[in-house]
Amino acid sequence: MRFKGLSRLKRPEPLRIALGNLPQRIVMATYAKDKAFKISELVGSIFEQSYEWYGFTLAHKDRPECIADVGLPRNDLNLRDYTTIGSGRIAEFQEMLPKDVIINGWIHSHGALDYRHFSETDKRNHLTVLDFVAVRTRRPLAKEEIVIQDLVVLEKDRFVAEDLRKGSVSLITDAPITEAKVMETVYGSFCFSIVIGDRGWHEQEIYYRETAILSGRTTVTSKAADIEFVDTGRLLTKIDASALRDEVEEKIQPNTNPPVETMERM
Ligand SMILES: [Zn+2]
Repeated sequence: MRFKGLSRLKRPEPLRIALGNLPQRIVMATYAKDKAFKISELVGSIFEQSYEWYGFTLAHKDRPECIADVGLPRNDLNLRDYTTIGSGRIAEFQEMLPKDVIINGWIHSHGALDYRHFSETDKRNHLTVLDFVAVRTRRPLAKEEIVIQDLVVLEKDRFVAEDLRKGSVSLITDAPITEAKVMETVYGSFCFSIVIGDRGWHEQEIYYRETAILSGRTTVTSKAADIEFVDTGRLLTKIDASALRDEVEEKIQPNTNPPVETMERM
């Protein structure tokens, strides 16, 4: 056996061909932003105290990157410094939405607290929302080569069982070939997360999930993201605000006497 030169031993980078991309910043309708801060204001005036609340960011299914509206689900438990999200609540909420509206993330308030960060609880919530949202924001991102060590190419009807003992993967073709590349689709999904405070501040992150269809390789990453507010022509009217007041009264449930074990901060 002879070495065919050291360059042959260097493993080349797997081939990756881009097919699409994921949003690197958040676009939100001014209407949706105004609605979120209005909810905080209403929570404060109805319950005479600031509480955390959470809602979902909504988009048209044809424009999943743009937050067009904010939806308020029935919040399980609103404390001054803790909001929890259950996956059942997300599914229930999606069921009630029009067919062309999707959830593309979530938004929550830290109320009067000046805690302008995402807490550990927030990160767990975000993963719960990402799990649900991923299938709706999914798109092909790339075709990527699966590097197969010891690929054996066999010809249909011309191999014997013994040939299958060789190699890690057998590729059976209908014509003789000497080389093959296997390319798999890598799908990408995203989910937005926004946190706001009564004083008008906001911070936002995007979570990404990439899954390769054949190898099953999955990665989850996140980053702080810029946000751009856009005027979509829709304004938060007095009628909207009055309907929102009823909604807040019905869906936000302050619990001023929580059991000790649920007192996780933010
Ligand atoms: Zn939080």
